[in-house]
Order: sequence, then structure tokens, then C-alpha cells
Amino acid sequence: AAPPKPCTSFAHFSFDEQLMHTIRKSEFTQPTPIQCQGLPIALSGRDMIGIAKTGSGKTAAFIWPMLVHIMDQKELQPGDGPIAIIVCPTRELCQQIHSECKRFGKAYGLRSVAVYGGGSMWEQAKALQDGAEIVVCTPGRLIDHVKKKATSLQRVTYLVFDEADRMFDMGFEYQVRSVASHVRPDRQTLLFSATFRKKIERLARDILVDPIRVVQGDIGEANEDVTQLVEVMPAGVDKWGWLTRRLVEFTSAGSVLIFVTKKANCEELATNLTQEGYSLGLLHGDMDQSERNKVIADFKKKSLPVLVATDVAARGLDIPSIRTVVNYDVARDIDTHTHRIGRTGRAGEKGVAYTLLTNKDTSFAGDLVRNLEGANQSVSKDLMDLAMQ
Ligand code: ADP
Ligand code: MG
Repeated sequence: AAPPKPCTSFAHFSFDEQLMHTIRKSEFTQPTPIQCQGLPIALSGRDMIGIAKTGSGKTAAFIWPMLVHIMDQKELQPGDGPIAIIVCPTRELCQQIHSECKRFGKAYGLRSVAVYGGGSMWEQAKALQDGAEIVVCTPGRLIDHVKKKATSLQRVTYLVFDEADRMFDMGFEYQVRSVASHVRPDRQTLLFSATFRKKIERLARDILVDPIRVVQGDIGEANEDVTQLVEVMPAGVDKWGWLTRRLVEFTSAGSVLIFVTKKANCEELATNLTQEGYSLGLLHGDMDQSERNKVIADFKKKSLPVLVATDVAARGLDIPSIRTVVNYDVARDIDTHTHRIGRTGRAGEKGVAYTLLTNKDTSFAGDLVRNLEGANQSVSKDLMDLAMQ
């Protein structure tokens, strides 16, 4: 069948008054482009792949149709266990999507549970058994609960993979397939991301049936609302000097997110900055979950103006106060770079991202030039020279 036509106003989706009320309360005046195109498809029950740049409202594009779906299915299929599952790569993103589900699902009396590693197994199991209709999870922990028979996935008919290319990347693919294999084949499945390499999309298509693919702009395109500035430094010139000269200026504009590659670099940079008197938090995968929760909460409410993080913070997080992203260590690949800088410039706001390169980063420089050109950014002569080497 032909894909349903896009809609351009909230009035066109025939959402009921409960949902429209929450949308109005959120002060969303019109649907974003991925919502205009994606919502009619998701509401029609078709499988879909939705690709749109960072900060463009993909979360609501799968949550709103999910709520409509659940309200229908609840009557059709009374019983136990969740009706919808949303799978994502990190614990912090899991909690964020869970709070969006609660925000929009409350008017319907729907319950959501966040199921992620590091959270209490017992509390999660209890929420599952108490009948949460929505599960937002990291895949490994959901599988643990299924194995322990804390829940059954037999009633699940709506399955979402957010940051889908990451979910089908090495390290996650096996778990993701395991989750999909526990869910009935006549489900609706939706994949979303800002980036999707062809090779990974081919793998991911196995779990879809005749999907409609919606792409906003070019795949993997960086967000134009983020002004990207690149500093090419001779090897050995210290990034530390650069950062400490600029950090006060950055914090005066808003919250600052600094990316490093390794957990050890994260600890080291955070310690050094703390010794210099900066107030900041750090976030990486070896930290205790209660510490991770506290740091993110403090960063969100701006009591910590600076966060030093590994790529655990690269994807999905929506923290509107972030004005500046610093790639203190260059990202491992250009898609990760696109996601990192996408932590600012969200929902039409502007942001700035700095990327520090040394003259050894020649191959990344080439990818970065294309990334900048795709997002209408100017490319400095230093960067162009490096890319040409
Ligand atoms: P993405 O997943 O595409 O990176 P999100 O779903 O996290 O983006 O949304 C980014 C921000 O935009 C969020 O703060 C969200 O509340 C907001 N948003 C979503 N839809 C709309 C809309 N229709 N109008 C205005 N803001 C919106
Ligand atoms: Mg997202």
C-alpha cells in the first residue's frame, strides 16, 4: 500500500483531547518535520525507519502513536505484560524516554517502567508485575527479567528501537535480536536515529516487515543549528591550556558538555579542572548508577554548569540548557561526532560545538570536512590542509 500522506498540523492526526491537552501544555505549536511525515505512518500500523537530525522531535514521533496503539490494544487484548517496548542504548536515555512516556501517558492512566542495568532489579520486577503497559529498557536488563519470568512479552505489539543504528552495532546486536525474538511476529516495529550506515540498516531490516522509510534531509547530516568550530593544534600543544582559557566564557553562555574518549581521561580531566576551581560533574560507564543519576540531575538543573563525559552521553540526551559542546578528544567516528554535537542546538535552538584536532587526525579531518559542508558550516584553511594530507 502507498504510504499515508504527511500532515502539517496537530489538528490532522485525530489525537483525542487527553493527548492534545498534554501537547498544548508542552507548548508545542506545530509538529516537527519528522512528526509530520512519521506520525501518519506510525499511526497506520506500518513498520517504519525514521531518520532525522538530532533534536528534531523523534521521541514524540514514536510515543504519541504508541499511546494510541496501547489504548486500542488494551480493549482488544486484556491480559498481563507490557503492550509496548522501547529499547535504547544507555541508562540515562532510558530514564529520559521513560519520563516522556509518563508525561504523555498520564492522562490515559498508563504506566511506564524504566528497565536498565544498575537500577533495582526488584523494583523493576515489581513495576512489571503491577502491570506497566510501557517498558523503556536497555536490552540486556530486559532479557534478564524475561529469563527470570518477571514478565512475559506475549502481549507486546509495539516495539521501538531508538538510536537504532547503535542498537544494531557490535556489542548490542545479539541482545537486540534476542528481544525481538521474544516478541510476536505480527507486531509493529519502528526504528529511529539521526544516523544509519547502509550496512547496519541492512542488518536491522531483518526484524521489520515491509517498512516505510522516512528520511529528513541527508542521512547522518549534522544539525545546522550547531555552529561548528574546529581547532587544529600541532601535536603536543596542550588542549588543557586552550580549554582553561575558554571555559569561563563557555559557561557564561550556558551549560557545557565536554567529551573525552576514555573513562580514565574523563577522571583525569575532571580532577584537573576541579583542582583549578571549576564546578563540574563527570559521567562514564564505570560509575555507580546512583552517582550517574545524581550528576545528570544536577547538570540538568544547572547546579553543575560543566559535565565531562565519555560517549555514554553522546546519544539521545535532551538537556536544553547545553549551549556548548567541546570535543576535547575527537570522536571515534563521524556518526558519533554528529550525535555528540547534537546535544546542543535542539528544538530549533542554537548551539556551538568545538572540536580539537591534532595534526595526526588526518583521516578524521576528511570526514569532518564533509560533515561541516553538509551542515552549511565554514571550513577553515587549517582543517582543509589537514584533510588533504
Ligand atoms: P531527537 O530524538 O530527534 O533528537 P527529541 O525527541 O529528544 O529529539 O526532541 C528534542 C526536543 O524537542 C525535546 O525537548 C522535545 O520536547 C522538543 N519537541 C518535540 N516535539 C516538538 C514540537 N512539535 N514542537 C516543539 N518542540 C518539540
Ligand atoms: Mg532521540
